Amino acid sequence: YIVHFTHPYHKRLLQNRQITKCSRFKTFEKIQVLMEKSPDQFTPKKQTEGSKSLLQSEELFEYILETSVYPREPEPLKELREATANHPMKVMCTTPDEGQLMALLLNLANAKKTIEIGVFTGYSLLRTALSIPDDGKIIAIDTNRESYEIGLPSIRKAGVEHKIDFIESPALEVLDKLLEDAKNEGAFDFAFVDADKVNYCNYHERLMKLVRVGGLLCYDNTLWGGSVAVSDESLVPVSMRPSRRATMELNKSLAADRRVQLSQVAVGDGLTICRRLY
Ligand code: SAM
Ligand code: CA
Repeated sequence: YIVHFTHPYHKRLLQNRQITKCSRFKTFEKIQVLMEKSPDQFTPKKQTEGSKSLLQSEELFEYILETSVYPREPEPLKELREATANHPMKVMCTTPDEGQLMALLLNLANAKKTIEIGVFTGYSLLRTALSIPDDGKIIAIDTNRESYEIGLPSIRKAGVEHKIDFIESPALEVLDKLLEDAKNEGAFDFAFVDADKVNYCNYHERLMKLVRVGGLLCYDNTLWGGSVAVSDESLVPVSMRPSRRATMELNKSLAADRRVQLSQVAVGDGLTICRRLY
């Protein structure tokens, strides 16, 4: 048998020796046969950076990081990542390989003006700030300024604070306010959404007006720990269910949205990249 490490639970089962010889099971349903406890009684193991990956093994993820990502990670980003390492919610930090992809996308889109929803300590924000020109601007929105301040010293050290307009607020209000001014329509080149999953569809409708034709809208965590592929919701931890439902809804509606070209990439926890077509 081979285990597909698609979710921390699978690894947990292995560690608990509830699966001794591993399995080719791809679904929670089959896994559950071997479980002594229900999935709800399992708290995901304390996650390291690697265990967030949807790849088949930690080793493969480490290989990517060590070979292609860390050697090219700018020093201030590394510092910000280290400043976040002891945060109780450090799992929220964008993975460095995803950050690297973001930088590539930003450059391909010639992004100058961007919107970021969900800043946390600022890994993806600093990645963005380092990727746009010196006179570029990022509207960075988060309901919590405290965590942003953890990354702020690294942002300052990198000399890119002047590109960031941090707004402490629920994002929907900010987007609606921006849309009150017609000048903001189509004024942005890039948007990165990494916040409350239940609002992603609402963000999309607004961002489709704010981001120019040809610009990119990126939605993070669109595989939600692999839970989007679990057919029986009762097998998914209760705390993950509202976001799982919202994410499944979003994935369906983006796939049906002819206004965008899209690709759902299995990087980090799933990143859906949309390009506005009209
Ligand atoms: N992109 C970040 C990074 O690279 O580290 C991670 C963002 S974290 C996954 C999600 C963030 O969204 C949290 O900092 C949280 O405070 C913020 N958030 C949650 N609901 C929000 C809302 N309605 N409006 C704005 N921010 C929100
Ligand atoms: Ca995320």
